[in-house]
Amino acid sequence: MADPEPRPRKFAAPRGTTDVLPDDAPWWSFVRSTAAQVAGRFGYRRIETPTFEHAGVYLRSVGAGTDIVEKEVYLFEDRGGDTLALRPEGTAGVMRAYIEHGMASLPQPVRLYYVAPNFRYDRPQAGRYRQHTQFGAECVGDPSPLADAEMIDLLCTFYRELGLRHLNLKLNSIGDANCRPAYVEALRDYYRQHLDGVCADDRMRFEQNPMRLLDCKEERCQPIVAGAPRLRAYLCDACREHFADVQAYLTALGIGFDLDDTLVRGLDYYTRTAFEVQPLQEGSQSALGGGGRYDGLIELLGGPPTPGTGFGTGMERIILNLKRAGLEPPPPRPLALYVAHLTPEAAPLALRLAGDARAAGLQAVVASAGRSLKAQLRHAGALDARFAAIIGASEVATGEVTLRDLRDHSERRLAAAAAGDAVASEVPS
Ligand code: AMP
Repeated sequence: MADPEPRPRKFAAPRGTTDVLPDDAPWWSFVRSTAAQVAGRFGYRRIETPTFEHAGVYLRSVGAGTDIVEKEVYLFEDRGGDTLALRPEGTAGVMRAYIEHGMASLPQPVRLYYVAPNFRYDRPQAGRYRQHTQFGAECVGDPSPLADAEMIDLLCTFYRELGLRHLNLKLNSIGDANCRPAYVEALRDYYRQHLDGVCADDRMRFEQNPMRLLDCKEERCQPIVAGAPRLRAYLCDACREHFADVQAYLTALGIGFDLDDTLVRGLDYYTRTAFEVQPLQEGSQSALGGGGRYDGLIELLGGPPTPGTGFGTGMERIILNLKRAGLEPPPPRPLALYVAHLTPEAAPLALRLAGDARAAGLQAVVASAGRSLKAQLRHAGALDARFAAIIGASEVATGEVTLRDLRDHSERRLAAAAAGDAVASEVPS
């Protein structure tokens, strides 16, 4: 006998990606709508940029020696031979759009926000995925410390409105092109004596991106990080003043923070203010959100010198933390009406009745054809419907429907045209 046909291969979602199933959708809607509301109240307008860009947008801005460029970016050549990259982070693409669309000629600053997926070839674990979604905001064209403080205020307001508590804001200044070179020299001098004792990644960072040495998470490198020179001692007067003002504004806003001079952020383009928000009692991998000032970025991308400040915060980690805190999203809208139909002639009436209910703002579902009344009502119960309309031969003959209240099982018969309104009067839309 011939072998049976092999079964087609079943696919799973690629490693490090997740499906957002309908049960989780209320969480996502809640977090997305809160993001849009809070950003809107702060005067931010939505921008959407493509999921992929010319690779240079990221390679040039994010910088050599960063994890994103060295290990994580999804690079590919398209069929036309262009080298493209899936978005690994939100800011660079938005700045490319700012330049391309001449937003420098708009009243400054330009306040933009987005909610978009990012792609990083990272080692997947809880809260770390190869595709994650960030809510990000960018304030472009304002060099003042007030803009940084307001950016942090936006992020903290967003978390507060979601109901997240017990968060720790870490703050640092990483200087600018004026004062950082002397610090980087001092850092190199210090690490040169310790190169034998550090991890392989650190030896690469030493060559390519010494600031990132401070961000190393390897156990054996921690004592070396602890003994490294501190950037704060090297800040120039302008950076020192800027940083003091950011702190003063945060204090005025009642936003608590901890200074952390090992906070350098993963990307190259940051200057001055850097911040990160972490849940208390979590490890260092668990930042909920972070950001900072990037005054050199637009120039790096070929635009005019333009200051900017922004943040990104990961939706998946936020939802994880909301669940851990025992919070619930607003419940989804209930199914108001399930329309059961018992004969082929009843089907058009059923479709029209569901249409009436939807026009009244209600959620309505029509039963699949060809099932018994018992099966249809069981389905209505499984969907937690509030009412079932039943249309059989006698209802078709009179143009009526039987409306069953699925809470108390009471029934009444009424004109089909009146049924939508009858349900609407009892179910909030
Ligand atoms: P970053 O762009 O690395 O500064 O990250 C900003 C925020 O995005 C983090 O605080 C996380 O909430 C989230 N995030 C970053 N990388 C990942 C990832 N691989 N998986 C899930 N969330 C992430």
